[in-house]
Formats: sequence, C-alpha cells, structure tokens
Amino acid sequence: MPGEGKREKAFLGLGSNLGDRQSYLSAACRELAAHPSIQIIQASSLYETEPVGYQEQGWFLNQVMEMETTLTPEELLFFTQGIENELGRKRLIRWGPRVIDLDILLYGNSVINTPDLIIPHPRMYERQFVLVPLGEIAPDLLHPDGSSTQEHLDALRQRGNSEKIRLFREYNP
Ligand code: AMP
Repeated sequence: MPGEGKREKAFLGLGSNLGDRQSYLSAACRELAAHPSIQIIQASSLYETEPVGYQEQGWFLNQVMEMETTLTPEELLFFTQGIENELGRKRLIRWGPRVIDLDILLYGNSVINTPDLIIPHPRMYERQFVLVPLGEIAPDLLHPDGSSTQEHLDALRQRGNSEKIRLFREYNP
C-alpha cells in the first residue's frame, strides 16, 4: 500500500510560467496537502526567475516546499506527476513553458540514481531558483554530500551564476 513507508522529510521545487502562475502553484500545494500521507511543514516565498535554456517564454514563479511523507520516493514522484498532468501541463518544448513543474529536490538523506528518478535533483545545485527559496526555509539543512544549503548557494554564486531572480511575494499562509 502506498504511504506505509518510513516517515521522511522531503523538499519539492515548484515552478510555473504560463497562465495564472500563482494559482497553479497554490493548486499544486493544495493537492499535495490533501494527500493523507503528506504533511506540508513549510513553504518558501514566491520568487520570480528568468527562464533558463529556452528564452522565448515568460518568467517563472518558483517556490520550494518542505514536507514530511511516508510515501516512498517513487510513490511521491508518481503523485507529483499526477498533479502535473491534472493541472494540464503540456510538454511541447524541453525547458519550455509549463503551467506547473514539480521536482523532488531532496528526500531525507537519500541518493537515488535510476532512469526515472535522480535525487538530489540533478540540476538543483546549478539553479538559484532552487537554492534561494530552499535557503530561505532551510539554510542549515545538510545535503547528502555533507554541505548545507547556504554553502551550496555560496558556491553557486562564487561560480558566477548570473541568473536573475527577485522576490515576488513573501509567503503569507
Ligand atoms: P522535467 O521536464 O524537468 O520535469 O523532467 C521530468 C522527468 O524527470 C520525468 O520523466 C522524471 O522521471 C524525471 N526525473 C528524474 N529525477 C527527478 C526528480 N528528482 N524529480 C522529478 N522528476 C525527476
């Protein structure tokens, strides 16, 4: 039965750059919170970020959520993909516009490398739109490599990452 595993802390990255972006983020958040095996612990503020890769698209709204769950990583991925499908994500262009994108960033201290699931999320240490909101809610969190979120963010900035990101709306439950 899904949801009968060990209780783990997980972090999800949410993004939207089509339509009413804020509504898509809140709809995804509501669906996550409604799952009996998921408890939302914290949500970051919303950040507006420049698209990476394919430039001919609107800016993204991004947010990071901390949760506790008894779903396994695979069950969590299945559930988040269901939310993406339900909210009508159309995957026409890689890194192109999307109403909602849900990424599993971290799952406890697990390191997973399978064809369908890579944790920590493979691109999270290159993206300010992940590390800035994650740093807001969990700056001292230790990642599987032993470094904290803040250390990863400092390292990214030292590498000269110039992605534009700005605070869009402070989190206000
Ligand atoms: P994307 O277009 O970036 O949302 O990528 C979706 C694909 O990434 C799906 O086919 C997933 O199986 C795969 N994937 C691998 N690792 C992860 C992860 N940590 N979180 C979400 N999707 C993942």
